[in-house]
Amino acid sequence: MQKPSKPAPKITPSKVYLKRLQDWSGDQKISETVLSAWQHMEPMLDFIGKNSFTAIKLTFGEEGTSGYVKPAWLAGLLNSLRQKTENAFIVETNTLYREKRSNAVGHLHVAESHGYSLDKTGIPVIIADGLHGRDGQNISIRGDHFENVKIARGICESDNMICISHVTGHMQSGFAGAIKNLGMGCASRQGKLLQHSGTLPEITVEKCIGCGACMSVCPANAIGIKKKKAILVRERCIGCGECTVACRTGAIDIKYDENVVKFQEKMVEYALGVKKALSSKIVYLNFLENVTKNCDCMSKNEASVVPDIGIICSIDPVAADKASMDLIGIDKFKELFPEIDALTQIRHAEKVKLGTSQYEISEI
Ligand code: SF4
Ligand code: SF4
Repeated sequence: MQKPSKPAPKITPSKVYLKRLQDWSGDQKISETVLSAWQHMEPMLDFIGKNSFTAIKLTFGEEGTSGYVKPAWLAGLLNSLRQKTENAFIVETNTLYREKRSNAVGHLHVAESHGYSLDKTGIPVIIADGLHGRDGQNISIRGDHFENVKIARGICESDNMICISHVTGHMQSGFAGAIKNLGMGCASRQGKLLQHSGTLPEITVEKCIGCGACMSVCPANAIGIKKKKAILVRERCIGCGECTVACRTGAIDIKYDENVVKFQEKMVEYALGVKKALSSKIVYLNFLENVTKNCDCMSKNEASVVPDIGIICSIDPVAADKASMDLIGIDKFKELFPEIDALTQIRHAEKVKLGTSQYEISEI
């Protein structure tokens, strides 16, 4: 006789809250709306204690874009948070690609020019992976691609986090929200490279002037100079990406060649590492405003692809992102990136237990 099959485990849906806001034209009104969403979440956030080191994770946007969460919109939230803890700080990590935000100095200049500075917000900005993006910490996880992930030390040493994400499309993951802000946004440079690339850096000999800058920063002694040209000792390279930033002539490049499924799955596993490092003490606010095809790393403004919706709040990143996708319409992301299934990140996130895609949404 055939054994009766086990019933599927019952999944408790995660709570998701939606604060609608269609008119994003007045900073004061936006700030009050964000504050009201925040106040709704506050009773669930007993982990933000007096003097706790609370990381407010967001992105300042690339130079030349206005597509990022503006500091004036967070004025009420930041003020309220300051009453709870004196140790709140705004946090970001350096970029993998060579631009101003690939080191902490340039990054702080961009942050300042976009209104994120101590004198304007009352909250300091910290670049969590150090001057050059090298300061990472290994966090062990059980993933399909990684057994440990390299997360920016300043994130790992925080007590809890407010993860503020501007929702957009993305050329490699199809959709960028809370999971991407955690997974890619909190990784050290090496962690970012390991998500983006399945290969090691490549040297274009014609562009190399033999200056040796790459060799001096390489922590693995994997670069030599022969006949005034850099050569890569592939078996020594640990894929940290330092040389790509050090080279001023653009002779060393990373191929962003990871296939989109693997890229999304790796990003999810990095997000899991951040969640583990912070013992799940994270609240997520997704801004569904000015949803553009590409993310805020583009140094130009893009048109919104859907009307503005409002703010999604949850303590589950998977539920927050799935609800954001559903509100915008998953077909919109398919239309923007027909070759990418943005739901891959949601499926993998459920598989590795980052959260659940089943949610109950309430308007607040
Ligand atoms: S990626 Fe890192 S380890 Fe590899 S050659 Fe460049 S600096 Fe050295
Ligand atoms: S830093 Fe660039 S230009 Fe200088 S040796 Fe290395 S690859 Fe060549």
